[in-house]
Amino acid sequence: MKYELVVGLEVHCQLNTNSKAFCGCSTRFGNPANTNVCPVCLALPGALPVLNRRVVEDAVKLGLATGCSIAPSSVLARKNYFYPDLPKGYQISQFEEPICTEGMLQIDGGEGLRDIRLIRIHIEEDAGKSIHDIGEETYIDVNRCGVPLLEIVSYPDIRTSKEASAYLQKLRQIVKYLGISDGNMEEGSLRCDANVSVRLFGDGEYGTRTEIKNMNSFKNVEKAIEYEMQRHIDVIEGGGKIVQETRLWDADKGETRSMRGKEFAHDYRYFPDPDLVPVLVDSEMLERIRLELPEFPEDRERRFAEEYGIPAYDAAVLTVEREVADYFEETVAVSGDAKAASNWVMGEVMRTLKEKYLDIAEFAISPARLGGLIRLIGNGTVSNTIAKQVFELMQTGEASAEEIVEKEGLAQVSDTGAIERTVDEILAANPKQLADYREGKTKLFGFFVGQCMARMKGKGNPQMLNEVLKSRLDG
Ligand code: ZN
Ligand code: MN
Repeated sequence: MKYELVVGLEVHCQLNTNSKAFCGCSTRFGNPANTNVCPVCLALPGALPVLNRRVVEDAVKLGLATGCSIAPSSVLARKNYFYPDLPKGYQISQFEEPICTEGMLQIDGGEGLRDIRLIRIHIEEDAGKSIHDIGEETYIDVNRCGVPLLEIVSYPDIRTSKEASAYLQKLRQIVKYLGISDGNMEEGSLRCDANVSVRLFGDGEYGTRTEIKNMNSFKNVEKAIEYEMQRHIDVIEGGGKIVQETRLWDADKGETRSMRGKEFAHDYRYFPDPDLVPVLVDSEMLERIRLELPEFPEDRERRFAEEYGIPAYDAAVLTVEREVADYFEETVAVSGDAKAASNWVMGEVMRTLKEKYLDIAEFAISPARLGGLIRLIGNGTVSNTIAKQVFELMQTGEASAEEIVEKEGLAQVSDTGAIERTVDEILAANPKQLADYREGKTKLFGFFVGQCMARMKGKGNPQMLNEVLKSRLDG
């Protein structure tokens, strides 16, 4: 391959504030069309916007989490353009003086850890929505006008489509850890545009770029970038020239198509919004927010491995999502057994969540109840096999593991007399196998274990059963 891919990403992240960026309107998704609206959302004459304090705090949080410089004073500007879903005729955004600049995200897209630099993070508001699927007409819903966004712009440091999706996943992980966004890509809380170009390896200059929009999943981001890269190469190899333009990704057809020529920034006629004062972040506010920051995923991963003595792989899996990491820690606190807790969370819990399409927050078994079950395994009340049955039963009710074991009679039989009786019965019932075993067919040991366990309905203490069986067979 003689061409190198060059990608920069612009990501819009919808913040999960209760009210909009510049007025008190609700941001609730799913309210009837055009009910989350007021004169400020529409910039009616005389209406005055006031910036939501939480939006500033959230921007600062993300800026600190990505190593940005936080501007003590930044400016809200009007970006002027006409579009039906923007009744104001302008979008409040930040242009020359954004709140956060020069940060960095460390990602691993399969080429080892790489630093992707950030140009800026700025505050802006969302536009409304055109609705095309009701009859012949097009309708406008302005509920989303003024919903707060952070726009995160990277340098063109990304070199493969895998790195692009790794970058997005990292960003998603961070905003979710910070609790400032649900980070849901399919529902549009995280929207990504990609600037794509190619150049010959070793070339210092960037090629002409195109911008791709409308990629609403990690997989689609990868596919769209792959497609666009190949299209650029084909055009160049065919003696043609890339036209700078905006292209739309069509997931059904698996291709990008031309949407519009690229507007130049000066067409927007940005100017500072005369209705809004500069955004001030003093050192006191900065320090307060810094103290409120949660433990970051990498730090938590390292701590899990050290503090709980679990393998690095477990620590990495358990810290991908903050809620899962919290769940694990609470389970350890109750069970007192980190390795067992890790096995259960990574095994049965995650398998169940995947099968039932659930988030861990919706999972029926609380960490306290799972911890209780792990304790019963630890003290020999149930075997691992029986514990899995108890785990299934716990999902359909509120009962604790202890109550279920008691009610269903699932406690492990560790009574020597009972185990010996069972072993003797099984040996007596299978004289042929017993003779074969004693003549050297020692593989039959497993057969006897299975028979004994079946008779004890799986509740025999496996270790004791093995010992008794061994001494009877060989003795
Ligand atoms: Zn409003
Ligand atoms: Mn934007």
